[in-house]
Amino acid sequence: MAENKKIILTGDRPTGKLHIGHYVGSLKRRVELQNSGEFDEIYIMLADAQALTDNADNPAKIRDNIMEVALDYLSVGIDPAKSNIFIQSHVAELTELSFYYMNLVTVSRLQRNPTVKAEIQMRNFETSIPVGFFTYPISQAADITAFKATVVPVGEDQMPMLEQTKEIVHKFNAVYGETLVDPQILLPSNKACLRLPGTDGKAKMSKSLGNAIYLADTEADVKKKVMSMFTDPDHIRVEDPGKLEGNTVFTYLDAFCNEDHFAEYLPDYANLDELKAHYQRGGLGDVKVKKFLNNVLQEELSPIRARRAEYEKNIEAVYEILKKGSEAASAKAAETLREVKAAMKINYFDDPTFLEEQKRK
Ligand code: ATP
Ligand code: MG
Repeated sequence: MAENKKIILTGDRPTGKLHIGHYVGSLKRRVELQNSGEFDEIYIMLADAQALTDNADNPAKIRDNIMEVALDYLSVGIDPAKSNIFIQSHVAELTELSFYYMNLVTVSRLQRNPTVKAEIQMRNFETSIPVGFFTYPISQAADITAFKATVVPVGEDQMPMLEQTKEIVHKFNAVYGETLVDPQILLPSNKACLRLPGTDGKAKMSKSLGNAIYLADTEADVKKKVMSMFTDPDHIRVEDPGKLEGNTVFTYLDAFCNEDHFAEYLPDYANLDELKAHYQRGGLGDVKVKKFLNNVLQEELSPIRARRAEYEKNIEAVYEILKKGSEAASAKAAETLREVKAAMKINYFDDPTFLEEQKRK
């Protein structure tokens, strides 16, 4: 059983480079938690096995993005001395745990999962949903519980996964005895970061929708994307009053800017409220706001870009980081699996009472 340790588990699907939605939704928080020194163990997972559930015919895509996402992690400040970065498929115990958890979940419960529903629609699976994809909330429960995670820092779309995990934990512990740890979700505290919209104004910035600003984008790329971002389509002339609702540029400012940015780049305004008020009154053009947002983003992204460039020069070191992290993760998951099998009383060869019982029959 748990030793009252504080443990973090979180991760990302290596389906593409990470973007600023991932950054504000989860990555930034991970780095803060990592550096708080409050956690005993931290595991950050490259969820390649999960990514294959809807990319079975394109393993090359997953393979190519392992290193990209690892570089993204290191560039935002994940420190391999404090956090284990590991590859999901390397930890075979996760598959075994999933297999036992499957017995504790009904098909109708999975069908009700709102994120899975939305993702099935987005991918046009209709009735040809791969079984692996359909059951990925169960495999996510295995990922979280294998590490005895107490805290899972993720974006809002992961809430149904955490609920499913908690249900599995409660059911498992009720049936087999107190074994698994009940995890807590940690959502971003800033509302704009719960689900950052895409540059096109669509509800979610996503790797697969082509509406993302990537952490690895060059300065010129970022500027280009910001200057062509979706704003208020009715704000045509500078003097027109502008709308904030659904205005992506202002959502990004909500997510990224602070008063120091105003002092540095836009001293005519003390804070975002003043800028918003002027926009709503009319007389403030989109270009000025976009230029400000570009400055804010460049300030946040340039140290990330610089760190990435350093790590890119030494891919072999990154490879070693992944190997070491995966070994540490395997050891931890093996320990949990042993406890799970003991609780289920299917640990025949580790349990001397098994043979005694059989002999007595
Ligand atoms: P895919 O399209 O392959 O599912 P994704 O962009 O949704 O990729 P994931 O790897 O599924 O990324 O999610 C990684 C983490 O980032 C999760 O914690 C998720 O909640 C968070 N996240 C993803 N997109 C956003 C977003 N637009 N805003 C805030 N958080 C996000
Ligand atoms: Mg996703």
